[in-house]
Amino acid sequence: MVVMIGTIGLLVSCAQKSKIARERNAARKAAAGKGSQLKAIKKAQSIQCKVCFQTFMCTSSQASLQAHIDAKHSKLNKTFAGCFPDYEAAAASSTASKKASKNKAKGNAKGGKKR
Ligand SMILES: [Zn+2]
Repeated sequence: MVVMIGTIGLLVSCAQKSKIARERNAARKAAAGKGSQLKAIKKAQSIQCKVCFQTFMCTSSQASLQAHIDAKHSKLNKTFAGCFPDYEAAAASSTASKKASKNKAKGNAKGGKKR
């Protein structure tokens, strides 16, 4: 099997080749890991303020999100749900049965809203 590693590839021994290949593989894996980490971060930032479109970690506490509303949108007199319907949906999915009687828990409870 011929491994092309630029022009250096022609000069190095088989052992070195496999070593370089391993290193390249490791580098590629690291890059892939970075990518998936970014993806995970992106996924984690699932709560978005519908007023300014700032995203927040889904682990953000309601208090910290409320602080955002107070700091940025207090003039708009927005309710918590008005700014963060995603948070409500995420919370609703865990307490869906509790909130089901509240009226429109049908679509929101799924949380499968795609942007
Ligand atoms: Zn905002």
